[in-house]
Amino acid sequence: MNTDNLFPNLDNQIYQQHRYYMNEALKLAQAAGDAGEVPVGAVIVDAQGNVIATGENRKERDKDPTAHAEIMALRKAGQVLQNWHLNNCTLYVTLEPCPMCAGAIVQARIGLLVYGADDPKTGAVLTVANIPDSACSYHKLPVMGGILESACREQLQSWFARRRTGEMGGLGAPETGRRGDPATGT
Ligand SMILES: [Zn+2]
Repeated sequence: MNTDNLFPNLDNQIYQQHRYYMNEALKLAQAAGDAGEVPVGAVIVDAQGNVIATGENRKERDKDPTAHAEIMALRKAGQVLQNWHLNNCTLYVTLEPCPMCAGAIVQARIGLLVYGADDPKTGAVLTVANIPDSACSYHKLPVMGGILESACREQLQSWFARRRTGEMGGLGAPETGRRGDPATGT
């Protein structure tokens, strides 16, 4: 894997840390994808670099429209810290957060959001909308997109390609009227 620093303004050690935690998020996303969910994974790390919470997309399994990877991780982190203020934490997620998750991340006062692939369909941090910088946000959220971007994007694309070819039954079967692949916009 190419480990050259694609972010020249970022200290190389910090860049490698971001890649390490994003890789952990990718593993969670893979587990979700294998279970028939759209593969999205999230990891929350405290100021000392400890992984305090993880989440994967569980919408289908939990029959819960709010069971996105970020929401699952935010809820766990609050329980672990016994505090909903997550100012000293970094949230890593493989896909740009949707409006619901971007709102929750702002509510949690996350210290830094790091995401992998842009979401041209529902990305609410940069691509379609910008909730953190909008008038309804009073928390200034530092954001870094594009960490392990190609790995994150390819994971989503291959999952949607497999679903289209009907390799997955049950949970992974296409829903009627469902919108397309968030990572490709198809
Ligand atoms: Zn979401």
